[in-house]
Amino acid sequence: MTSPLESKTVTHTPAEREAMWQRVGQDVDVLIIGGGINGAGIARDAASRGLSVLLCEKNDLAYGTSSRSSKLVHGGLRYLEQGEIGLVFESVTERAVLMKLAPHLVTALGFIVPIYKGKKPSLPLITVGIFVYEALSLFRSPKPHRTLSAVEAERAAPGLRIDKLNGAPLYYDCATDDVRLTLETSIDAAEKGATIATWTEVESFVRGAGGLVRGCVVRNVLTGETKTVNAGVVVNATGPWTDETLSMGKPGERWIRPTKGVHLVVPFARLPVEHCVACFHPDDGRYLFVIPWGDHTYVGTTDTDYAGAIEDVCASRADIDYLLRCVSHYFPSREVTPADVTSTWAGLRPLIAADDVSESKVSREEKIAVNPEGVVTVAGGKLTTYRAMAELVVDKALEALSLRNYATPKLDAPDTKNEPLPGGRSFPEGGHDALTKQLTEEGEGHIDAATASLLASSYGTRAFELLALVKTEPALGNKLTEGRPEILAQVRYGVTQELAATVCDIAMRRTQLYYRDTNQGLDATAAIAGEMQRLLGWSDEEKAREVARYEAEVALSRRWQS
Ligand code: FAD
Repeated sequence: MTSPLESKTVTHTPAEREAMWQRVGQDVDVLIIGGGINGAGIARDAASRGLSVLLCEKNDLAYGTSSRSSKLVHGGLRYLEQGEIGLVFESVTERAVLMKLAPHLVTALGFIVPIYKGKKPSLPLITVGIFVYEALSLFRSPKPHRTLSAVEAERAAPGLRIDKLNGAPLYYDCATDDVRLTLETSIDAAEKGATIATWTEVESFVRGAGGLVRGCVVRNVLTGETKTVNAGVVVNATGPWTDETLSMGKPGERWIRPTKGVHLVVPFARLPVEHCVACFHPDDGRYLFVIPWGDHTYVGTTDTDYAGAIEDVCASRADIDYLLRCVSHYFPSREVTPADVTSTWAGLRPLIAADDVSESKVSREEKIAVNPEGVVTVAGGKLTTYRAMAELVVDKALEALSLRNYATPKLDAPDTKNEPLPGGRSFPEGGHDALTKQLTEEGEGHIDAATASLLASSYGTRAFELLALVKTEPALGNKLTEGRPEILAQVRYGVTQELAATVCDIAMRRTQLYYRDTNQGLDATAAIAGEMQRLLGWSDEEKAREVARYEAEVALSRRWQS
């Protein structure tokens, strides 16, 4: 048994990083591999029970699939059609929990399903489906459904094809920010005592008596240094890398059938939809979404088997054409073309392998199992159900610990259901609007309304900490790039409070410049890298290398253009 680690810090200054690396050498009860939403959720759950926890992420938090999802917290009507009642029930239950834990990050989003004469599904079928969907959430949907007329549908989604429109049911699910959900879950885990070691790769397992895994060799990616960590149990939460991680133990074990999902982003003015529009692709009938996203709208997703290198996954020209064919079918008059695309992202679904079904039909249910070497692996599932899934994984880890007679500390019951994530604490009664109003008023003369709104929706009540930074040091209120609301304080806060260590971390995951800026944040790299150099003590070469690394990421997302 080891005692919970002393670790409340989530800063990335050199001294703090060194202190973190010292803690990495200590024995722990649970060592988690992977800092996506699942690893973060498991760390939060395990730490909340009183276990000592080390989470190792080889890149940045949410670097993998957890920054590349459709950003929905939803049950998914489509899964109902596939008969996945259990998954839908769990998802809509978790949706209600997450809205409470992170009201700034999980917010109501309308879904319009335009139904055309002579096409499937029929209006009565969809209406019954929505009724069952709402019943499964015990009628606690964010808002009740209703059916829009053609005129109402056209008003809510200008340019929508209304010829032969039978009706357009409007029901509600939730939108989220997948990266920030992962970040805030990790920060909460750190506050509960977990050590969150980013840029720390697990290289191999260490085995003890009977061939059981009793720890790992980990490498500090930024310095190259390695350490052996002893752990009561090791949890593999590496998403699309699951098989790679398993093969450190038993080569050839195969769990995952990765499928690629691509999204494209266009300025909101090109597709000014008030709600998400759910479309059936004219080529193959697959379900796709056109999703409003503040100053932009994104469209996704594709779903195709993928066999390349995980790190190289990106949109192809065929993916973009496929998505735009759906847009022009549903929005013929808007004439959205490849030239309108601001950015793209591509992610890999870590779906559980099942050889004889098509990509879209592979189950989204998770698989949790302990292998003969005692490693607990979790894969599959959805962002939406991560909290509940984490609870099951930690239960499984405790079973594995008791089988090897490992003495755990006296444990508390998990309580991840009621305690808000950091930005959801002390949330005002009036919700998000009240928070934005308060921040705008308090920020007058320091930040403008657009920045106040961005900070409120990104950081929740922690936005006041960023405002305090600007009030103390007005230059931190400077915009990162012209015409956009992101400010320098986000770089300072990202490094000192949210473990940002590279320019990519800031431009792609602490802000969304990579996705939303017309030049994908390339004009902001000087400001970002300059501030990071001051905070992290980078040499000019290191600074140039980090900027180049970000430029390479932008080039990867634009590869479809060549
Ligand atoms: P990841 O986020 O991929 O995390 C795994 C992490 O492990 C990575 O960060 C990686 O760097 C790290 N790692 C790997 N190997 C090592 C190592 N050796 N040492 C240290 N670290 C390592 N779900 C929803 O609920 N709603 C949606 O709208 C939705 N849309 C989706 C759309 C797409 C296109 C895709 C692909 C998925 C979508 N999902 C959605 C599913 C959801 O995004 C995933 O289930 C979830 O993000 C998986 O998280 P994870 O933590 O398992 O994996």
